[in-house]
Amino acid sequence: MDYMLRATAGDGQIQAFACVTRETVETARMCHDTSPVVTAALGRLLSAVAMMGWQMKSEKDQLTLIIRGDGPITKITADADCDGNVWGFAENSQVELPPKAAGKLDVAGAVGKGTLQVIQNLGMKEPYIGNSELVSGEIAEDLAYYYTVSEQLPSAVSLGVLVDTDCSVKAAGGFIFHMMPGATEETAIKLQDKIMAFPSVTTYLSEEHTPEDMLEALLGDMDLQILDKREIRFHCNCSREKVTNALRSLSREDLLELADEKEDIELRCDCCNKKYIYTSEELTKLAQEAVPRVK
Ligand SMILES: [Zn+2]
Repeated sequence: MDYMLRATAGDGQIQAFACVTRETVETARMCHDTSPVVTAALGRLLSAVAMMGWQMKSEKDQLTLIIRGDGPITKITADADCDGNVWGFAENSQVELPPKAAGKLDVAGAVGKGTLQVIQNLGMKEPYIGNSELVSGEIAEDLAYYYTVSEQLPSAVSLGVLVDTDCSVKAAGGFIFHMMPGATEETAIKLQDKIMAFPSVTTYLSEEHTPEDMLEALLGDMDLQILDKREIRFHCNCSREKVTNALRSLSREDLLELADEKEDIELRCDCCNKKYIYTSEELTKLAQEAVPRVK
């Protein structure tokens, strides 16, 4: 089971999140049939959005992270609610790039230069939108930069996805640490040293370590207190009803045109790739209920 932890350390100076997301990223890979480098990029963003979504205030809030870059993936979107449900997709899921040195997947090369957008949908209120430049395209560093510059919240972010030789996900997870207002320089330096000495998240998690172990290794001597735990799962909340409602927004003429096709119409959800099939009869019925196009 995938899950995340929320913790504090250093007498409240550090707010910490850590997660394991192997099953979630593997589900995303199977839904979208992603190539290894896209599995890694999407998996890193899904791990981050799960931990970031948990930081929202209300149960109705939703968080969206969008990475747009000039690399071959072009765009990755990841969404989360505050309850550990995540979903998302990459614009080009089949990108293949030669690995970097040491067999590492070239996520930065696949993403390229561009921007990170953070959208908090706060129920009925106007969404809160933050933007920052990508500093490396490796995603974790880009998120740390976003927090530090756009949110004035100095943060350390580490995310990793290890893809096995059969392309399945062997390990995935990460952590986000925020230096809270009032944190001392001494604490920041101590944490930085710990993180520098820590192996990569993927190495660590593939050695059967848990998020608890990860927090203990990094913050164990800084008065670590684990406060809460929450399950993470890849779960898209699309439904036939929602797709039908989207179809209802089309004009009568457009729906009749669709109904005229010989084959059934297949609509796919971007976020989970689930298929929704509509027959000509169903589309004709929707057309009869629809308003004619405004001339
Ligand atoms: Zn869906």
